[in-house]
Amino acid sequence: MITANDPSRTSWIPVPANSDFPIQNIPFGVFIPEDDIITTGTRIGDTAIDLSAMQQLGYFDEIELLGDTFLQDTLNDFISHGRPIWRAVRNRIAEVFDAKNPELRDNKEHCKKILFPVNKVQMLLPVYTQDYTDFYSSIEHATNVGTMFRDPNNALLPNWKHIPVGYHGRSSSIVISGEDIHRPKGQSLPKGESLPVFGPSKRVDFELEMAFITSEGKPLGQNIPIEEAEEHIFGMVLFNDWSARDLQAWEYVPLGPFLAKNFASSISPWVVLMDALEPYRTEGPKQDPTPFPYLQIDGKHNFDIDLEVAIKPESAEETTVCKSNFKYMYWNMSQQLAHHTINGCNINCGDMMGSGTISGPTPDSYGSMLELAWMGTKPLKMADGTERVFINDNDTVIMRGHCNNGKTRIGFGEVRSKLLPAL
Ligand code: CA
Repeated sequence: MITANDPSRTSWIPVPANSDFPIQNIPFGVFIPEDDIITTGTRIGDTAIDLSAMQQLGYFDEIELLGDTFLQDTLNDFISHGRPIWRAVRNRIAEVFDAKNPELRDNKEHCKKILFPVNKVQMLLPVYTQDYTDFYSSIEHATNVGTMFRDPNNALLPNWKHIPVGYHGRSSSIVISGEDIHRPKGQSLPKGESLPVFGPSKRVDFELEMAFITSEGKPLGQNIPIEEAEEHIFGMVLFNDWSARDLQAWEYVPLGPFLAKNFASSISPWVVLMDALEPYRTEGPKQDPTPFPYLQIDGKHNFDIDLEVAIKPESAEETTVCKSNFKYMYWNMSQQLAHHTINGCNINCGDMMGSGTISGPTPDSYGSMLELAWMGTKPLKMADGTERVFINDNDTVIMRGHCNNGKTRIGFGEVRSKLLPAL
């Protein structure tokens, strides 16, 4: 039973109106409290909660946790315990912080060791990621890109509706929200020229994505059947998969994206567990043609998550440029994971799987500047009067996401990163 999702529960920790982090969320992350050591933790309202302190003070004694599960610099140890333990810990946290429970609430000494204002802690990467895979699973995005670069009448390549297309990305350049990145340099082919030029990319773009984080799957050689896939998914984060469109266009033939995609991917710091997302399940788009049996699954496996992107120029207020939703994904996460392992490819605890750019059906729901400004032909107006076709130096890109089913609202906070000039 996921008792942590009880919509009627309130917490003795204050939760601001419209917070992404009511007691029904209980995400997991890694942080350093001021003058203290790194720890894993959770968050309610604007309070960061030190889970290693809670473990040491005996609050998890009834749960079979191995060693110092929470006194770690990543969540990987906790993730490796598996879904029943994730659920038990989340339920227990809900119980401890329930408004009616005096156990910790009335113990001021313990509170001092466990609770920190969230603005006084530094968030770090939540997991150690050995491998990062990026899918391409939004039919609207794939259609838009195919229309722009190939043929509007045959925008989708013949494989697209048969396989969840993906490629292996690079985990070393996954960075946490708040970490600034530099405009990449590289080769591109100017329009109408036959020889490439070298220099800073002129078309740096964001990609509005979400990523899921896996637990350890099956040994090499075995596959994860689609019905089991969600057992191997720990939770999700917001994911800005930075891209350099001009470098990409020149380099991607024949082996696909390389330096245009691996200079940075920014993630939000709090991992929202699949258990917390249970109340927001929804149907996916109808799939036609019917996929192969290994990709077929009944029930609701998409999630209704409102997403938005804002651009904040250096000295001006932010402008929202996109509103989309995770539910538009044509291929769901279960299908992605089943496909990823059908050849016997193994996955690791802490691996990250990007959804691919999440574009919706309307022009204001497109998940990249490439689509929003349609290859530079439809500049977007900022609140300060300036225009954007791609991302300018010193712009900050902010992505936010939340779910609201009328009973509860939980969210992911934000992923925010500034594009600095090329080094
Ligand atoms: Ca991507």
